[in-house]
Amino acid sequence: MMISDVTCPVCGCGCDDIRVQLDDSKIAKVYGVCIMGQQKFRKSQSPERITKPLKKEDGKFVEISWDDAINEAAEILSKASHSLFYGWSETSCEAMKVGIDLAELTHGFIDGQSSHCHGPSIIGEQSVGIPSCTLGMVMNYADLVIYWGSNPIESHPRHMSRFSTYPRGIYSGEGRRDRKIVVIDTRKTLTANVSNLFFQIKPNSDFELISALRMVLNGKEIPDEVAGLNREEITKLADTMKNCGYGVVFVGLGLTHSKGKSNNVENLYHLVRRLNDFTRFNVIPMRGHYNVAGLNQVLTWRTGYPFAVDFFRGYPCYNPGETSVIDILARGEVDAMLSISSDPVSHFPKKCVEHLAEIPIISMDIVRTPTTELSDLVIPGVITGIDAVGTYYRMDNIPLIAKKIIEPPFDFTHSDEETLKKIYDKILEKKKK
Ligand code: SF4
Repeated sequence: MMISDVTCPVCGCGCDDIRVQLDDSKIAKVYGVCIMGQQKFRKSQSPERITKPLKKEDGKFVEISWDDAINEAAEILSKASHSLFYGWSETSCEAMKVGIDLAELTHGFIDGQSSHCHGPSIIGEQSVGIPSCTLGMVMNYADLVIYWGSNPIESHPRHMSRFSTYPRGIYSGEGRRDRKIVVIDTRKTLTANVSNLFFQIKPNSDFELISALRMVLNGKEIPDEVAGLNREEITKLADTMKNCGYGVVFVGLGLTHSKGKSNNVENLYHLVRRLNDFTRFNVIPMRGHYNVAGLNQVLTWRTGYPFAVDFFRGYPCYNPGETSVIDILARGEVDAMLSISSDPVSHFPKKCVEHLAEIPIISMDIVRTPTTELSDLVIPGVITGIDAVGTYYRMDNIPLIAKKIIEPPFDFTHSDEETLKKIYDKILEKKKK
């Protein structure tokens, strides 16, 4: 049986044109997906998949029943005075909603990967507003595409072929030959190799270059050299931007993580706003995980804040730099963690991991990782888009409904949302006693 229009649960491109061939209710072949997507579909049926709840006893994992796992999770979270609920970028918006309920119920703290990746883009959006568009508009209109500090050939393999560079659009001509691709980066990437114009800039000089471009657009004199580019190169770049029919900048971590962080992004959004005095211009952050944008959306609906939300006082507080996961962990301010489809032990600074080693951890995941190994309790995760239906947000903030294509490899739960609801109900039950 062939299932079409399947949505890939890997990166922020949210490719929803995948076809999956099922054989005996198992995934036999996946068509139209890139290598990153292939790996995820393969992983969903691999023998490495976590299929039973595990509890650590005397330093070793032992299998426990589903009811005991829910009870144990509820016990850990209700005993803690300030729990951390972290991850969320690879689960559904429906599960996130219950996660926020859990954080509120336990007066905990909820944050996701955006806190330490595109957090500066979100702060920039809050300060300046984002002149943006959808990926469909990029495909149909854009004749100038700029990748600034991003390298989609390696991070989002179908981005260029599906949306920005190669497809023919209604008003964007014949595809590749009618589009100009510009790369601005500190090193020559694979994407730079296929671009029309590549500007190699000095590390940590993005802010200066954006300011120089704004000065050129405003008719001001600029120095002979800025960010490693000479005046002629900067003027050429500003003219290219100003004279296009429809432009878009895809912002990567190269910009959001270089010196200046949210100030770089704010400055870029001001530049794009100014460009709209001459032509149509937009900006889209290159969001990494497939639903990293979803947590920002769901948290904003529920609390008014997009990430790093602390319910310690019983109501939502937000102050990135103070209430963000790295800061809170480095200060040792949480006494339990529920990590969902994420691996903070592999990615966080040493000081944060040292604190994690001292507190009880519950991991919900599909395969074992350094974080599951450090955990006290491991609960099998369900893959939205493969084992379960669910909503997620693409990098351009378009919501997609991801289909369920096979049953999960267990029958005690059917989605992360269901698992989290059971933990929530159990905590409520304990509180009433
Ligand atoms: Fe999946 Fe991203 Fe590859 Fe598209 S580009 S198939 S969403 S991993």
